Amino acid sequence: MKKILYFFIGISIISCKDFKEGVKEVHTTADTENETIEITLHVLDGGTVQVNQLELFSEDTTYTGQARGFADAYYIIKHPKGNLMWDAGLPEKLVGLPQPFTSPDGAFTVSRKDSLINQLKAIDMTVDDFKYIALSHSHFDHTGHANMLKNATWLVQENEYDFFTNDSAKVQQPDIYNSISELSNVKKLNGDFDVFGDSTVVIKSMPGHTIGHQVLYIDMGLEKPILLTGDLYHIEENRTFKRAPIFNYDIPMTKRSMEVFEAFASEKNADVFIQHSVQDFDRLKELLKK
Ligand SMILES: [Zn+2]
Repeated sequence: MKKILYFFIGISIISCKDFKEGVKEVHTTADTENETIEITLHVLDGGTVQVNQLELFSEDTTYTGQARGFADAYYIIKHPKGNLMWDAGLPEKLVGLPQPFTSPDGAFTVSRKDSLINQLKAIDMTVDDFKYIALSHSHFDHTGHANMLKNATWLVQENEYDFFTNDSAKVQQPDIYNSISELSNVKKLNGDFDVFGDSTVVIKSMPGHTIGHQVLYIDMGLEKPILLTGDLYHIEENRTFKRAPIFNYDIPMTKRSMEVFEAFASEKNADVFIQHSVQDFDRLKELLKK
């Protein structure tokens, strides 16, 4: 979703916390013996998107006349080698608005209940506690509070970085540029990246929705590893029927990424969570409470 949005700053409301600690045996290439580490996952509420024109999420007329509520989650992974934030919710300027904001074209109505600082406070963290930030991609509903993690290293595909920070992008999509412009520590990726070097948290390159779109694999020692889709799929039907949004950067590229994703998910027997699915947002919160 790439709509230009302008908002006003307001008050905040405390949100609830959900997290899970997993114990995972890992070994690094340097070690001959295995080591047991703890990995914690938090799923947090970065707002909601009411999609008023669901037809935007298919190449055909399948969804014409339909509307759908989307979750807008972001995630925190605590690892002994540092903390990672995955995605950054909707813009904080939405917090405290008297009413949800509808984009000028009427396609989306968005809201966000709470600020990053409040949400982190509820889990005894601050913006300085992050070694890394990674975004599935650079659309406004994933970059919201990214700039607040100024001390973190931004893990971004090199082509995504170039696409969203070049001179014309600054002019044409200033809201997105202004949400990432202060991330000055940048590690540019070209493909998959094993964040902590032990195969527990791996960024997988899955281009198509944007030029450098990526998804996140988390093996924290639960029954199944977790696979977060980013916006490879927005809704369950699009995973089932391999439908892609009409506004994607490259639809054939998206379809190839879907094939790679499904093969990887099967190989790892991963539990797939569609990030914009309200059902999957609730399901992950429930899983993490157990
Ligand atoms: Zn999105």
